[in-house]
Amino acid sequence: MKAKVDQEMCIGCGLCTGTAPEVFRMNEDDKAEAYAEFGEDGEEAVKEAIDGCPVSAISRD
Ligand code: SF4
Repeated sequence: MKAKVDQEMCIGCGLCTGTAPEVFRMNEDDKAEAYAEFGEDGEEAVKEAIDGCPVSAISRD
């Protein structure tokens, strides 16, 4: 499965990269990006990242 970060919405708080570092990382624009797909074992962390994002910038398939 894939997650996606809306680059216009992301404020670069870094929360998602701490919650699910295997899926999200900060890019050179200081925004988060989803750099890897995730499996069932990553679902909970991604859900937590989506719920925790203060500007609701994360979506997923
Ligand atoms: S939690 Fe949301 S605002 Fe913060 S870095 Fe991740 S996508 Fe950006």
